[in-house]
Amino acid sequence: MLSYRHAFHAGNHADMLKHLVLSLCADYLTRKDKPLVYVDTHAGAGAYRLSAAQAQKTKEFETGIARLLKADRVPVEVQGFLDVLTGTGLDLNELYPGSPTIAASQLSPDHRLQLFELHPNDFPALERHFHGDRRVRCYQRDGFEGLLSAMPPKERRALVLIDPPYEQKSDYDQVADTLATVTRKFQPVCALVWYPIVQRERSDTLVRKLKKLSKNWLQAELNVSEDSSGYGMTGSGMFVLNPPYLLAEQLQRCLPWLTRQLAPEGFYRLDNKAD
Ligand code: SAM
Repeated sequence: MLSYRHAFHAGNHADMLKHLVLSLCADYLTRKDKPLVYVDTHAGAGAYRLSAAQAQKTKEFETGIARLLKADRVPVEVQGFLDVLTGTGLDLNELYPGSPTIAASQLSPDHRLQLFELHPNDFPALERHFHGDRRVRCYQRDGFEGLLSAMPPKERRALVLIDPPYEQKSDYDQVADTLATVTRKFQPVCALVWYPIVQRERSDTLVRKLKKLSKNWLQAELNVSEDSSGYGMTGSGMFVLNPPYLLAEQLQRCLPWLTRQLAPEGFYRLDNKAD
């Protein structure tokens, strides 16, 4: 079942949280002049046209990226993120970049990207988007299996994004089981897991399992409204296994501002454990 299309949601509040955290982690990991592989298990199409019928149907980007582009007094961490988006070379009023495009713009020429995407329309779009970029390999295969086959990486340093659609309930268990296997094959891996808040019980169970995988983790959530016990997504979260040591401090500084912009009637959560 592949009914989820990210084109309906690109640039929304959940993308803002996910891509902000991704860009902060990529920024930290690319400071050292050392080999690195980026693995995106559910890469999507690479870029999304905001004037396309799908984006126009929901207009979710209007309460996400469009608000950040118009905002004043932007905190330095969010400004850094907006600069990364601009650095992709896309006209942000027309096109919103997906996670692999954001990571690719931060990685250097000797870094590698492994991108997994199953959808019969999004996969060719992803391949076209990265055509000619010799750092990138796109695979039309299951991203959970792809991640396991990519570990341990020859670089011994990896940034991983796990961003499934969760349209199948089994995605929750598969995220936790896959990451548990990854940590047995290779440590420490900096792994980012995005999760929706639809049924609080489900996301809490996932996060409880993920917290057991390392002594170093961070959890950040942006809740746009109070929990509705299963009736639609009320927010989303990012769980980071082995986060860069600066990440908690950076998010502490900018999440209150981000919440005021994107979730004025909501709230954020930030929790972390460092060994
Ligand atoms: N990571 C992207 C971004 O932030 O720009 C968005 C990804 S979207 C939330 C999830 C994607 O996973 C969809 O494009 C969907 O087609 C794809 N997908 C669903 N199941 C998959 C699987 N088992 N393996 C790889 N891709 C899958």
